[in-house]
Amino acid sequence: ELPTIKGDIKLDNVVFEYEKDRPALRAVSLDVKSGQSIALVGHTGSGKSTIINLICRFYDVVGGSVRVDGHDIRDITINSLRSQIGIVLQDTFIFSGTIKSNIAFGRPTATDEEIIEAAKAVHAHEFIMSLPDGYETEVEERGSVLSMGQRQLLSFARALLANPRILILDEATASIDTETELKIQEALKTLLKGRTSFIVAHRLSTIRHADKIVVLDHGRKMEEGSHDEL
Ligand code: ATP
Ligand code: MG
Repeated sequence: ELPTIKGDIKLDNVVFEYEKDRPALRAVSLDVKSGQSIALVGHTGSGKSTIINLICRFYDVVGGSVRVDGHDIRDITINSLRSQIGIVLQDTFIFSGTIKSNIAFGRPTATDEEIIEAAKAVHAHEFIMSLPDGYETEVEERGSVLSMGQRQLLSFARALLANPRILILDEATASIDTETELKIQEALKTLLKGRTSFIVAHRLSTIRHADKIVVLDHGRKMEEGSHDEL
């Protein structure tokens, strides 16, 4: 079991392959302090999602180790690890039900006040209130009531309410209008505050806000530094 964690994450010479002799990560090391935000950048196939897969322990490393607060993640239960990680994926997961239940997904005991507070903090409240039934509006898994940008804001509200120590975000590539884009950037700042985060970043503005940028190429870490350093 893992008690509530600080959120230090260390990759030490991590090697991984999905298929034999086809390395997806080649000795990647990364030292992330609690509360830092890391932008992972690189061409398609460079290993960004693989790093995320290993931190969540969807796969085990082939060589090296992943440590959280100094504990090798193979020495803790998957449940206690995952309970500390919030994941916001590119293709935001919306299920059939009300807007309210979608936000409360990771914390079903949340009160209406807490749900609204989270939505306000990520600038989702305004568009929710413009829907026919506000927070009680029914949405469909594949419905088109919500735009991509709105889906993203909704998933931010969900992540904020769940309040994980570690946040993983695979940023949407879809084109989003300028106004929503600005809301997303502000919401992201709120969401990242005080958490260790890994962002597969596609937007320059996101990359600029990260504490550290890690450039991957063919499974290797090529560069690491702040936006000003690189
Ligand atoms: P993208 O920007 O396209 O999402 P990425 O940087 O996230 O790319 P990864 O998904 O980490 O790249 O892939 C790293 C390497 O591992 C690639 O060569 C890819 O083909 C391979 N790979 C990824 N997932 C699998 C899988 N499930 N099975 C086999 N090979 C995989
Ligand atoms: Mg990927």
